Amino acid sequence: MARDLAIDLGTANTLVYARGEGIILNEPTVIAINDRTKEVLAIGSDAWQMIGRTPANIVLSRPLRGGAITDFETTERMIRLLFQRAGISRLSRSRVLICVPSAITHVEQRAVLEAARRAGASQTFLIEQPMAAAIGASLPIHQPLGNMIVDVGGGTSEVAVLSLGGVVALEAVRTGSFDIDAAIQAYVRREYGMAIGERTAEEIKIAIGSAYPTADEYKAEVRGRDLMSGLAKVIVLTPEEIRDAIEEVIEKVLDPVIRALAQTPPELAQDLLSEGAHLVGGGSLLKGFSERLGKETGVPIHLDEAPLETVVLGAGRCLESFDRLKDMLMGRPRV
Ligand code: ADP
Ligand code: MG
Repeated sequence: MARDLAIDLGTANTLVYARGEGIILNEPTVIAINDRTKEVLAIGSDAWQMIGRTPANIVLSRPLRGGAITDFETTERMIRLLFQRAGISRLSRSRVLICVPSAITHVEQRAVLEAARRAGASQTFLIEQPMAAAIGASLPIHQPLGNMIVDVGGGTSEVAVLSLGGVVALEAVRTGSFDIDAAIQAYVRREYGMAIGERTAEEIKIAIGSAYPTADEYKAEVRGRDLMSGLAKVIVLTPEEIRDAIEEVIEKVLDPVIRALAQTPPELAQDLLSEGAHLVGGGSLLKGFSERLGKETGVPIHLDEAPLETVVLGAGRCLESFDRLKDMLMGRPRV
């Protein structure tokens, strides 16, 4: 029995949807690699679990951090491990739909298709992430109307204007929510002489980070290590100072939205002013982000109900009605 899959290989999270079942896997896009041989040993939560329990030469890495699939071998190994987890083998004759950044080059497209074929897929198709997000958000993309999708992920932010089933304007930056974590880390180091880890920075972002003042703001107590003395230390951070610390990153993330609006033909831009833009991706959950985006663009903003899942749910919907939606897919399938 074929198990058809849709895969969203995000810079931060990997999600897998199985036809007829729904989301069967949702884990961070991390891999455990042997530092000496460069072999990929595990992905997702299996990779987290190897840390500390295995010899020291195993390191964790986020292979898609910058939003590009640059390393073919790693990509193939990841897809192979995902297939294993989903119970797919060459014998299962599975069709696989992979969501890719719309800015992906032809060479990268071929690499992903080839990686999936070698890992055992019987047919592989690609779909552009904004297209999948639009389908997942139930936007009327087949109508002669302008629809805008803003996807703020971990390593990238992508903006697309879609109409009549095609992409009218597309803008992307390799800046995303990871860069907010990095800005918080750098700020705490600079202002307080204290080192905090990436995960602590992410927790601060989620707890008190914001792109625009919000109604209830709390301070946060943060533990770290003093850079001079090496001793444990506690500081108190305010939402205002975090807002300042991440402002530069927020501006970079907003930039492609402004550029996409400027590129949109006037008739479609009118649609956007009345219909609004649809916001997806984990980065869009930052407090005050949709308010800020609305203020800067003048476009009404709709935040998706489950913004971390929109892309894979859209791709899943394509699997469920494959014959009707296959025109949305990129390129031809390769056996
Ligand atoms: P990608 O598609 O690139 O894998 P995701 O859409 O999964 O990225 O988003 C992951 C990012 O969203 C992470 O950087 C994470 O810290 C951030 N994120 C998740 N929830 C929140 C939240 N409530 N507030 C702010 N950022 C969040
Ligand atoms: Mg994504």
